[in-house]
Amino acid sequence: MDQVESVRTPASWVVVGLDNGGTCNNATVLDATGRYLVDSLVENPSLVTDGPESAIEQLAGAFHNILELTRTPLTLVRAVGLDTPGPASAQGVISSKGATNFSMVSWHGFDIRSALEARIGLPVFYLNDANAAALYAHHQLFGAEAMTKSSVAAIVGTGLGGGVVEDGKVVSGAAGMAGELGHVQIPLHGVLEVGQPVPECNCGFTGDVESIASLTGIKKNLLPYWLTRFPDHPLAAEPLPQAAKQLRSYAEKEDPLALAVFGQQAKAIGKLFTIAANFTDPDAYLLGGGVVEASPKFRQWFLNTVRESTELRAEQQAAATFALVADLDMAGARGAAVAALEAVQPS
Ligand SMILES: [Zn+2]
Repeated sequence: MDQVESVRTPASWVVVGLDNGGTCNNATVLDATGRYLVDSLVENPSLVTDGPESAIEQLAGAFHNILELTRTPLTLVRAVGLDTPGPASAQGVISSKGATNFSMVSWHGFDIRSALEARIGLPVFYLNDANAAALYAHHQLFGAEAMTKSSVAAIVGTGLGGGVVEDGKVVSGAAGMAGELGHVQIPLHGVLEVGQPVPECNCGFTGDVESIASLTGIKKNLLPYWLTRFPDHPLAAEPLPQAAKQLRSYAEKEDPLALAVFGQQAKAIGKLFTIAANFTDPDAYLLGGGVVEASPKFRQWFLNTVRESTELRAEQQAAATFALVADLDMAGARGAAVAALEAVQPS
């Protein structure tokens, strides 16, 4: 277990947030006064590749460890929030076809929420990791006003995740598939160059947000095209997966090819936010992912390009905020804790 720098003890009853990832679980405790009891990552191995039995034991281990660390008696815990990568149902049943982190057959159709609930004997509330990060970002931005505000978050990583938050709560949808912002198809006019092939997504769609604004989109679509425009670029000598990962460091040095690629990503997110503006007209447009960890100058340029590419009416411009999602490492666990708190808090 990692050493935590700052740990507090609870002032009231609490909820626990557990973020289940491909290699680690991250845990946090949130008390009813809205205070997180740990300020840094508290991780243990998730062992998801060993199958459900080991993974549930590791989640239970993360739960008991975080209580011990914060000296929180088990009797103070009212609920647990759990998030994992998808695809999974709104109730925490892993897709019957499996998922990147849950490829073993024993995971297919596995009800991870119920299994953890049975193991620890407390109510467990589930959401996917992108929705958890979106929920945390919303509450972080709006604080005491969170329950009266709305937001849309786009988080750029291997894919493009995110979420839609309305009155402080994640919109999950009838089948649990709301907020799959990566697979929203966008108008490509003004995004692609003349003659640039229409990008394809792993989901089977063409021209959706993830086909452009994700690491996968860079590797599969944007970089192969832009290297034809910059054939002498040093990245042309690298295999595509490595070249795609190095692109951000080039962008930080204002390399023209790298800026062309990230410019297209920012424009694609702007098109997505323009759709959001006409759907839910949110109070905030939130942006997260690797770009948040980039140099401040590049980060600001990216956010500004997203903002300029989002077509808002004058009234909306006056009302809306654009912001970066902070503390992404802890966002999953903290968002899961917020969801659990919302579920059990007396209204
Ligand atoms: Zn897609």
